[in-house]
Amino acid sequence: MIGAVDIGGTKIAVGVVDDSGRVLSCLETPTDPANYSAAIELIATMLRKAAGEAHAEITGIGIGSTGPVDPMRGAFGDVDFLPGWRGKPVVEDLAKIFNVRVALENDGDAAALAEAGWGAGRNFSRLIYVTVGTGIGGGIVFDGALYRGVEGAHPEIGHQVIDPAGPECSCGFRGCWESLAAGPAMVAWYKSHKPSPEEEISGKRICERAQKGDALAREAVEREALYLGLGLANLINLFAPDAIVLSGSVMKSASLFLDRIYAVIRSGCRFVPAEKTELSLASLGDDANLIGAARVWHYRFGGRA
Ligand SMILES: [Zn+2]
Repeated sequence: MIGAVDIGGTKIAVGVVDDSGRVLSCLETPTDPANYSAAIELIATMLRKAAGEAHAEITGIGIGSTGPVDPMRGAFGDVDFLPGWRGKPVVEDLAKIFNVRVALENDGDAAALAEAGWGAGRNFSRLIYVTVGTGIGGGIVFDGALYRGVEGAHPEIGHQVIDPAGPECSCGFRGCWESLAAGPAMVAWYKSHKPSPEEEISGKRICERAQKGDALAREAVEREALYLGLGLANLINLFAPDAIVLSGSVMKSASLFLDRIYAVIRSGCRFVPAEKTELSLASLGDDANLIGAARVWHYRFGGRA
């Protein structure tokens, strides 16, 4: 039974996950960006409570965290939106409290490992996991091994440039995939083209309107699908993977985007066998990050690494 900790910019989820990837119990709390030591105490309390609810003893702890992390040192990196957490050795701190082995990865990598081991990516050896929600992230797993860059760096697929004249991005470029195809980009485009302005509209609502035939919503969906397709086509040209597993809130409306995505891929990926790359929908649902955190432990200590 693995204690799983999923650390996001706004919330922390803690749970107990069995060795087939099933979540037995789960608790949530808002993230306090400033106070790291209070957060560690709270996470420990939640882990004990989750273990009690699941009638389980925690035999290891896996952590998936947003932002740059140093998986080898087991510490947070330069997480600019969690200033009090920068450089903190979370692996050592939790290992001391629970006296078990602890492993840490970036949350995109954690979810990629989970889909590769327990989810939609199970039967593919070269796999790219892409999550499209308020941002775009993901992870790359080849032959069961997580792809790591220099010094263990996590590749940032959401920051590939799609249009250098596009909107400014926090990474320094303009027109990154994330700034054009993440959920807020579709909402911003729709709002700016609507003759009568609307204060609150979600991506989900735009997709529902498109399904009912609303012309502007359909245009927003077409534009979204074009940008999703361009980014995915780049990944296919670069890696020619067996499969790309699609996840995140925007992909809950994948049926609206897929035809156009396939058309974009066909129009440009002519020098790789793009038709052999399968686009699959993630199968672990909203718990993917928590399940991923548990998978991080199995990946590091379960004899697969
Ligand atoms: Zn960027």
